[in-house]
Amino acid sequence: MARPHRHPALLLNTPEIELWPATLCRAGVTATARRLALSRVVLRRKRDGRLLAAAGPDGLHPLLPELWREPGLEAAVAALDALAARDPAASPLLRGTLPLAGVQTDNAAIGLPDDYARSSGLPIHPEPRLLHAAGRDRWQRVLWLLAPTARAWQAMVAAARREAVALEALSGYRSHAHQRGIVERKLARGLPLAAVLRVNAAPGHSEHHSGRAIDIGTPGEPAAEESFAATPAFAWLQAHADDFGFRLSYPRGNPHGIAYEPWHWCWHPPAG
Ligand SMILES: [Zn+2]
Repeated sequence: MARPHRHPALLLNTPEIELWPATLCRAGVTATARRLALSRVVLRRKRDGRLLAAAGPDGLHPLLPELWREPGLEAAVAALDALAARDPAASPLLRGTLPLAGVQTDNAAIGLPDDYARSSGLPIHPEPRLLHAAGRDRWQRVLWLLAPTARAWQAMVAAARREAVALEALSGYRSHAHQRGIVERKLARGLPLAAVLRVNAAPGHSEHHSGRAIDIGTPGEPAAEESFAATPAFAWLQAHADDFGFRLSYPRGNPHGIAYEPWHWCWHPPAG
C-alpha cells in the first residue's frame, strides 16, 4: 500500500539529469545513504542512473568527485531552483516537455535511416518535464508516469483487484538516454541494427518516453513474453482497459514492423 507522502513524489526531468525525491533513492554506500536521509532531492544521471548530488536545506552536496564537470548540471540546478520557488507550478521548467536536442544526430551515428519515423510509423516522443510516482514495478523500482496516466493505472489496478485479477507493472517511463543505452549495448554485442529494431524502438521513438506507456504483467508469468496473451490478466485487459483509457499499441500484424506485444499498453486522453 502506498503511504501518503510529505513531499509529492515527483520526478523533475532535465536533458541529462533527473531530480528524484531523496526518499525514493537507494544508496549502496553508507555515507551516501546518510547524506540522502538529510536531503530532499537527489540529482541522478539519466544515462546510467548514477547518483550525482544531494540537495538539502543547506545546499548541494556532491556524491561524486568533480561534480562541476557533469554535463547538464546547470540545467539541473535551474530546475532545482524552480522547484524551490514560491510558486513552482508557474515555472516553464516544470511544465510540458523537454526540447528534442540531439536525438536525430545521435541516431544517425548508430546508422538509423533518415526515414525511420515515417517508415516505421513510430514518431519521436519528447520526454515530459514532470513525472509522478505510480507505485513500484515487479522489481520494486519506482514506476514513473505522466500524472493522468498514473491516476488511470492505479484506478485500473484497483478495479482488476476487485475481480481477483493481479496486474503488475513491468516498465513505465524510460528516458531517451536509457533507451539509447539498451540499443547501444545490443549493437556492442554484435546484433545487427535491424534485429534490434524489431524488438526495441529507436531511441526517442519509444512510447515509454511519453510517460503514457506501461508494460503490464501478472505474478508468476515471465516478463514481456507472448505467453502473457493467454493469462486471465490479459483477458481482463482486453475487456476493460479501454474504460481506463489504455489501448494495446502493437497488436498482431501491426503496421510498425514491431513484434506482437500483448504486454505493452498506452494511455490515451479521452476524445473531445
Ligand atoms: Zn513497452
